[in-house]
Amino acid sequence: MKLIFEKGAPGQRLSLLPPCDVPEVSLSQPRTDPLDLPHVSETELTRHYTALAKRVHGVNDGFYPLGSCTMKYNPKINEDMAALPGFAQVHPLQPAETAQGCLEVYAEAEKLLCEITGMDGMTFQPAAGAHGEFTGLLLIKAYHTHRQDTARTKIIVPDSAHGTNPASAVMAGYTVVNIPSGADGCVDVEALRAAVGPDTAGLMLTNPNTVGIFDKNILEITKIVHEAGGLCYYDGANLNAVMGVVRPGDMGFDVIHLNLHKTFSTPHGGGGPGSGAVGCKAILKPFLPGPMVEARDGGWQLVQPEHSIGRVKSFYGNFTVVVKALTYILTLGRTGIPEAAKNAVLNANYMMKRLSEKYAMAYSGPCMHEFVMTLEDLHHETGISAMDIAKGLLDHGIHPPTMYFPLIVHEALMIEPTETESQETMDEVCSVFLELWELAHTNPQALHDAPTKTPVRRLDEVGAARNPVLRYTKK
Ligand SMILES: *Cc1c(COP(=O)(O)O)cnc(C)c1O
Repeated sequence: MKLIFEKGAPGQRLSLLPPCDVPEVSLSQPRTDPLDLPHVSETELTRHYTALAKRVHGVNDGFYPLGSCTMKYNPKINEDMAALPGFAQVHPLQPAETAQGCLEVYAEAEKLLCEITGMDGMTFQPAAGAHGEFTGLLLIKAYHTHRQDTARTKIIVPDSAHGTNPASAVMAGYTVVNIPSGADGCVDVEALRAAVGPDTAGLMLTNPNTVGIFDKNILEITKIVHEAGGLCYYDGANLNAVMGVVRPGDMGFDVIHLNLHKTFSTPHGGGGPGSGAVGCKAILKPFLPGPMVEARDGGWQLVQPEHSIGRVKSFYGNFTVVVKALTYILTLGRTGIPEAAKNAVLNANYMMKRLSEKYAMAYSGPCMHEFVMTLEDLHHETGISAMDIAKGLLDHGIHPPTMYFPLIVHEALMIEPTETESQETMDEVCSVFLELWELAHTNPQALHDAPTKTPVRRLDEVGAARNPVLRYTKK
């Protein structure tokens, strides 16, 4: 496929700008050489981007089982609500009294998500999950500092945590203490007991963790950390497995982030926009980023929490993501939310069971919303790696699962079907997986050569990462 710069010819245009109706201003340093823009007609431009769009695979095209990503169907009513002119055309600098409906969306979303998580307050400023982690850690830090408890410099992170957890802790100025998980995929409680002390600021727990397991010792874990004077952070990016069923607040967690762009159905990928909403218990509320929305004098007002850590983003976060999350929650309601979680878990266990006919699971079941297979033995026996299987899936029009993650599992494939996949789809996908297993034994070369039906074949992924060519230069 040609690049847009390689199409068209000088003189071809889209449309002309309307006549200038404001006074002309001459620049002090006008550019001397013309901008190198493509010369294409409107038809050509439309066709170019349509052709590109057709090559993109999304949840509206087919199965998209990226573990730890929750690529679930985004009900179209969410988009309708986010596109309402009162939401879509509001300006962030408008006075609060002219945007009361928008402030009510924040207040309502805060109320419902606090109920779902068992928290007392929530900010929607963070733009992504990792941004939420960073914000949550700043809350923990502000809390200890406010109490003049400044010797607490360490954050404990189990090795089954999402990779962003230790990175966020370092960004927030903490030293990370890694603790191992046991053969069952849960935190090694004795290692945790040995790791806590007067220097413990807190613990970050991803639950269900990156191997798709709900930690059976969760109450014990939060108790150990609290007794040592630390606070407990819940990475709730994958709340899809537990929403409406159990509440992190009831398990002893003091602060949590949610990925509204995973669990609460805003589509994601390609860099956003997202929302890493951060909820906290009452002890941390005074430190939340400001402004927050509060009911005052019969209306909604923007107020600064007493000891606020300040802003973590311009304005109020990605507002329409919150509109979509609120629409999703209100559409599903009190019975639909836990039902979605239970179906997500059921679907994952269904696939896990069917695939374990041939594939080795990294941890024995049952799993939560996702499961991890290890292709280590298959690789030894046939030379076929997790990467080869993933490439084979592409020829069947299936987006591969998450590969080589989590790092604690070798030759990992991590599958998350989500609740929005039907049994028929999952059966088809399982058949393809099992077919590829046979192929690995009968004709491994075919898998080494895959994919053959995609617009591009195997890419030099290391080369693309190490020497990225990000700028078009004319040949
Ligand atoms: C996706 C994810 C994150 C990070 O969220 P981003 O929006 O990508 O920054 C953190 N933790 C877990 C468990 C996740 O799945």
